[in-house]
Amino acid sequence: MPEIHIDTTNKSAVLDLISYQPHDQYRAGITLSKPSLDAEFEPPTASLGNLKVLPVEIFDWVIKYATMHAASSLRTVNRQTRLLVDASLPYKHIISSAPHIGATLVRTGVAPHFTVEEVFWILTHPACRVCGNFGMYLWILDLERCCFTCLKEDPNLMPMTEKDARAAFGLTAGQMSQIPVVVSLPGKYKAFGVMRRRTGKFVSRVRARQLGLAIHGDEDGLSNYFTSSNSKAKAAYDKKAVQRSKPMAYDSHGRVNNTLNSVERYLVSVHLPYLDLKTYTTKMGLACSGCQFAVNRRSALSFTSVEMEALMRCRDCAYTEAGIIDHFKECADAQALWNASPCKDELEVCWEGQKVMDNFLKNIRWPSCYTLTKGM
Ligand SMILES: [Zn+2]
Ligand SMILES: [Zn+2]
Repeated sequence: MPEIHIDTTNKSAVLDLISYQPHDQYRAGITLSKPSLDAEFEPPTASLGNLKVLPVEIFDWVIKYATMHAASSLRTVNRQTRLLVDASLPYKHIISSAPHIGATLVRTGVAPHFTVEEVFWILTHPACRVCGNFGMYLWILDLERCCFTCLKEDPNLMPMTEKDARAAFGLTAGQMSQIPVVVSLPGKYKAFGVMRRRTGKFVSRVRARQLGLAIHGDEDGLSNYFTSSNSKAKAAYDKKAVQRSKPMAYDSHGRVNNTLNSVERYLVSVHLPYLDLKTYTTKMGLACSGCQFAVNRRSALSFTSVEMEALMRCRDCAYTEAGIIDHFKECADAQALWNASPCKDELEVCWEGQKVMDNFLKNIRWPSCYTLTKGM
């Protein structure tokens, strides 16, 4: 592949042509109709009361180590405390870069489990916890960042219902309050394109197991529970577990994976932008138009299902600006779009994702690498 030189004169044109914002992916998980708990308000008249003796630095420190629930609650005391909390660091960066995150944690019921500092940390670290690529989702139950492919198929990113967790690990309702329990929100989950009206309670399997170990003492204690429990709930859970273990689907790692792309994965996740602390800019996540284009060609080319899966995994990758430029250097389809584009010479923006791609497909003079394809 001949190398395409990218410099300051063509970088933004390349970015505009070969990248787009994957809005459907942003909305794959929880999407709040009102992303913020805020509303316009009059200037405050009440005082801070006893809190007014605190220097700003101490107040920032208190908020930093407070839970998201405590910070949100303090904001509701009066308009003065709200101004102060919103101006405190790092809370200020959370509400300016990802205003929906605080509201999502509050509304799903897990805000008491995570501090402002922990949320800020995950906002400012871009890597998926599973594969290390750029991730643009928050897996709420562990407050971890993940990418679309891992969210779709990683076994540890599949939540279990609270009811199953209690049966599986011998836990009571009171004990479950020690770990985050997401109460799912009704709404449209774009990964499925359907309304989900039913709500449910979900927990992380890993955390539920850890809690089980703590409650039963150790591995032996937990094993004793597994073998000795004769509750109906445990029997029902075991029956379901046997059903689920039958090999009905496989993931991209070749593992038996019957929870591939399950809706429950999206009920406990939300789009998470990345705050770059070098520039203090927020990255929403970009996708490659070339990889999307490669998937769109499926009707004209005969791909095997394995090849198609691989193409879709590439299509579902997200990048920062720097990351997609690196990807461009290796992506034959993105380079083909660039080489065939009238933008290449004019250096003008003429691309805005999928809609324009359709136009582009009609008018493009195909580069030689596509001349063997049929029906295009
Ligand atoms: Zn990943
Ligand atoms: Zn690509």
